[in-house]
Amino acid sequence: MRESTRARRMALRVDPARGQIQIVMPSGFAETEAIRFAGRHLGWIQARLAALPPVQPFVDGARVPVLGIDHVIRHDPAAGRGLGHRRNGEIRVGGRVEHLARRVRDGLVAEARQCLSERAARFANTLNVRIQRITLRDTRGRWGSCSATGHLSFSWRLILTPESVLTYVVAHEVAHLRELNHSPRFWTEVARLVPDSDTPRAWLRRHGAALLRIGSSFDPKA
Ligand SMILES: [Zn+2]
Repeated sequence: MRESTRARRMALRVDPARGQIQIVMPSGFAETEAIRFAGRHLGWIQARLAALPPVQPFVDGARVPVLGIDHVIRHDPAAGRGLGHRRNGEIRVGGRVEHLARRVRDGLVAEARQCLSERAARFANTLNVRIQRITLRDTRGRWGSCSATGHLSFSWRLILTPESVLTYVVAHEVAHLRELNHSPRFWTEVARLVPDSDTPRAWLRRHGAALLRIGSSFDPKA
């Protein structure tokens, strides 16, 4: 349950990352009312939870898409204790099995940081703008953001998308450094950086929820 001062009426939201339903209630409502509200929508709640993409934890043998290419996680205790190394369709991770998921994620975050920063720098150069700082987050639903002060923020999960999708999101946020809106002028700037925006945007709409389930350890159905 989340109380919201901005909400005008009760609403239900799906949180794919946690596999939970959130009840948003305007302030002043009693919890019992929120519970009754959820009770009236049990069918909807059950259908939405059942429709969530499966959880894909980072375990030995699991498949992980990296830049759109399927990789298999291989636990190799002899492989040393560094981060997961990606090679020939495998992410090979050493060390103890209880650290495997974290190492895989940390390795992917490091690769995401490199991929995102490299493209951001290139695009900033093309548009002649300055990036103040780049932050990686584990956001739900927002793949990137840009502040008026030149601070860009991205979801580390973009490393799990096809390269054209990751590149588009970077182009989108860097273009905001020229136009902090979604006007036709903004889209003209985006088009200077990437040839196509529609396909990557459609991809994210279609697969976004599944991305939030990768490496996630929350599963109400388990
Ligand atoms: Zn935008």
